[in-house]
Amino acid sequence: MKEKQAAVRLTDVSHVYVSGKGALLALERIGFELDEDEFVSLVGPSGCGKTTLLSVVAGLIVPTEGRVEIGGRRVTGPSRQVGYMLQHDYLFPWRTIENNCLIGLELHGKVTDAQRTDALRLLKEMGLGDVAAKYPHQLSGGMRQRVALVRTLIASPELLLLDEPFSALDYQTKLTLEQLVSETLRKRRKPAILVTHDISEAIAMSDRVIVMDRGPGRVRRDIRVPDEIRAASPMKARELPGFHALFGEIWGEFEEMEARREPS
Ligand code: ADP
Ligand code: MG
Repeated sequence: MKEKQAAVRLTDVSHVYVSGKGALLALERIGFELDEDEFVSLVGPSGCGKTTLLSVVAGLIVPTEGRVEIGGRRVTGPSRQVGYMLQHDYLFPWRTIENNCLIGLELHGKVTDAQRTDALRLLKEMGLGDVAAKYPHQLSGGMRQRVALVRTLIASPELLLLDEPFSALDYQTKLTLEQLVSETLRKRRKPAILVTHDISEAIAMSDRVIVMDRGPGRVRRDIRVPDEIRAASPMKARELPGFHALFGEIWGEFEEMEARREPS
């Protein structure tokens, strides 16, 4: 029988940063897989290598060792099959919202009418239908992040990478966006990796939570979120009893890492 192909596979990924100050082992033998519509969150202490790992998956950093495969093909550099959304929205102030959304496509050739229609439809879906002709400075932080999401989705990436995309937003906006991203990805049935320092957000949005250890960055725990929580929306998930148990478990991992760092 043919083995089921993972949508994303990391095998023994290690990365060393070399600088004037010496060498730093940022990632050590990271390995995990994602199914085709799986949503995985990465949590871990600051500096444990989360952003480095996403950059490796995005093909922006060539790892010192190991490999990343997306759809069975080895990642050797950046490509359109990966959408990368960051905490800062990087919208161009002199471009309209619509034209900000199309920028990724423009880099690959002339934008077609169909793509323009697509962008407008997506903007509408995200509740931004009436701001397409406006400029970024006319929008709130939450709206700008939604524009960044449209821009990321418009290229129909095979994999979505999200590096703390909600962390600069106020709590209410953040919950709304979690909801929106979660629904959108469920409809698209594409895998995603979310980096967040918010344990609640990780549990509420994901199928699995990977807890990373620091110094060097390693997979410490790979925890499956219970079905009941996965089936609920991010907002509703937070009210379930199993949610608090899992939160406590992950919190415990953080406490242990912290205790080990500062022995008394
Ligand atoms: P996280 O996103 O989990 O906070 P990072 O991936 O940003 O962690 O960083 C992991 C480690 O690698 C940190 O110790 C950081 O200081 C170091 N680091 C990150 N980027 C570079 C770089 N370009 N050159 C050297 N060291 C780096
Ligand atoms: Mg980071």
